[in-house]
Order: sequence, then C-alpha cells, then structure tokens
Amino acid sequence: MTSMRLKAVYNSKKWRTEVRSEVLRRCHFRCEATRLNVFGEYDRCRTVDIVAGGDKSLLIDHIDPFHPDPYDIDNLQALCSECSGRKDGGRRRS
Ligand SMILES: [Zn+2]
Repeated sequence: MTSMRLKAVYNSKKWRTEVRSEVLRRCHFRCEATRLNVFGEYDRCRTVDIVAGGDKSLLIDHIDPFHPDPYDIDNLQALCSECSGRKDGGRRRS
C-alpha cells in the first residue's frame, strides 16, 4: 500500500521536476547518510552524485514513509545505493 503510493509519487511530474532536484541541491549532490567511523563517531558518507562528477546516482529516500506529505523535503534525504540498501539495518539514532 505504502510502496504503491510512493511509486506514484516518484512518477509524478512534481517529483521529477521540482522535489528531487531541490533535495539534491540542498545536499550539494552528496549522500546525506551518516556512518560510524573508526573512532566510533558518526561521519557523513558524502558519496557524490553522478551529475556532480561522482560515479554513483543518488536515490531520494523518505525518512518517514508514513509522513502525510510525500513532497515535504524535510522528510527526504539523498542516499547513495550503498547507504539506502542498509538503511533499515544501520539507521542513525538521534
Ligand atoms: Zn552513502
């Protein structure tokens, strides 16, 4: 149900022309995930999107999939494929 709704969002014109680029601009085309470094501190991942010279394409992820407004950019984050794939396992606690 939720994933069906999000699929419609991802295919919408608003998402493709406005929301996605706004999130990417906000994060300067870098992955916004945090990961634990060797010192036990959280670091930004900072993988760069392909349009900014990187070698990966960032995905836009809904932080809270049940948020009432799927276009609210405060609920969105840009993630590289590596970080989005392990989001549920190693989610940041704050
Ligand atoms: Zn990442």
